[in-house]
Amino acid sequence: MVSTKAVLCIFIFAIWVSFARASDLAIEFTEQEKAYLQNAAPVKMCVDPDWIPFERINEQGQHEGIAADLVQLVAQRTGLKIELYPVKTWDESLAASKSKLCHIMSFINQTPARDEWLIYTEPTFYDPNIIVTREEHPFVADLRALQGESVAIPRGTMIEERIRRDYPNLEVVLADSESAASLLVSERKADIMIRSLIVAAYAIKKEGLFNLKIAGQIPEYTNQLRIGVLKDEKILHDILDKGVKTITPQEREAISNKHVLVIAQKGIDYSLVWKILAVLALVLLVSAYWIRKLNVLNKELKRLSITDKLTGVFNRVKFDDVLETEIQRSLRFRQPFGIIMLDIDYFKQVNDLHGHQAGDMVLTEMARLLQAHTRETDILGRWGGEEFMIICPQTDINGVLSLAKNLCRIIEGHTFPIVQQKTASFGVTAYQPGDQTGNLIARADAALYAAKHDGRNQVKVWPIHEE
Ligand code: GH3
Ligand code: MG
Ligand code: MG
Repeated sequence: MVSTKAVLCIFIFAIWVSFARASDLAIEFTEQEKAYLQNAAPVKMCVDPDWIPFERINEQGQHEGIAADLVQLVAQRTGLKIELYPVKTWDESLAASKSKLCHIMSFINQTPARDEWLIYTEPTFYDPNIIVTREEHPFVADLRALQGESVAIPRGTMIEERIRRDYPNLEVVLADSESAASLLVSERKADIMIRSLIVAAYAIKKEGLFNLKIAGQIPEYTNQLRIGVLKDEKILHDILDKGVKTITPQEREAISNKHVLVIAQKGIDYSLVWKILAVLALVLLVSAYWIRKLNVLNKELKRLSITDKLTGVFNRVKFDDVLETEIQRSLRFRQPFGIIMLDIDYFKQVNDLHGHQAGDMVLTEMARLLQAHTRETDILGRWGGEEFMIICPQTDINGVLSLAKNLCRIIEGHTFPIVQQKTASFGVTAYQPGDQTGNLIARADAALYAAKHDGRNQVKVWPIHEE
């Protein structure tokens, strides 16, 4: 029993809420208007049969589009019955309206010419008029600046009246419909077209005229679209006007969004362009600076990666490379080359007697001495601890041998820092066809071992010739 009461309460509350909402929108009609609404025959309405997405008469002969939805809303709120007066063209609609064959025009701009036979409701919709051109046409800041250009306009429109009056510099080319006008521009038979922003955005996409763009606007030509009513239908006008005033901006927005999505191209914002260019220039300058710096650093890194830190001559990494290159060159051009491997005698004593730093000084001096007494083309490197290697390109075994002997004597006669005298042992070998870096080095190593074994401070060659 209690639950039945509760359900009843909720039901009554729901009715009350919906009544309260309806009464928000409820229109106060005068007695005269109420009488009109009770007795009136359906209101005949003329429309533009080809003004999509605002309105059109579709294949089933029905009125559809933004205007159709707005008029329907007004009809619903006022209780008016509205019937479509079928036509094929806008001109036909205008003529029917003038001849009082239809009581209202669904969606129309107020113009002096139309004031002759029409009165209007408040606008049901606002929509700016914009300039449509071909892709290559510059942005139009002011229509007055266009000299001798032609403008395609649908016949009998507000725009036709106003362009003729305001812009005598433009040559008017009349078209039968909006889409015919935009085709004239697309096909270069006219330079520009003035069109509603919503219609243009919709049509450029829909008609696939992708060589067209929106290139400017005419703020003073904003369409204020209203319901036009025959002058002698004053009561009908008042009823419709009351209905129009109940349309909220949100409802208008929802209806227009339902029919079109607007994408308009704005004029070029040069200050923004300059800012972007300035930022780009800065980015380029900073990157150029960093690229230069990186190049320098990379070169230095490369140099360090192939140089022995203590002596400044090439290290073993570079040597493996050079040896490989020399072997390839000898193979291709049949040129001889040889290598010298040398090891300082009893170097351990230097460290032991004078310290590691003294040892380093001897090593550095040895590198300088070897560099000073080899040819520019010879390549000197530190092979390991107190071992050095010299590659002698384009030199046969005799040449390499005599260089090694010469160096042996020079070292023996040189006065080194701290330790004074120092000697070194030399292993020499020359490239033989079929040699790889490994066995070439192994031969030089074997020769050096032999030199050490035979008492140091001497040169051994292996296996070609033995001193
Ligand atoms: P041998 O005549 O048989 O070559 O005798 P050695 O003493 O020269 O040979 P050993 O291989 O016994 O010793 C080499 C020494 O060289 C051992 C090591 O401490 C020293 N050495 C290697 N690299 C460096 C370096 O960069 N600086 C210094 N100060 N000493 C080094
Ligand atoms: Mg050694
Ligand atoms: Mg040694």
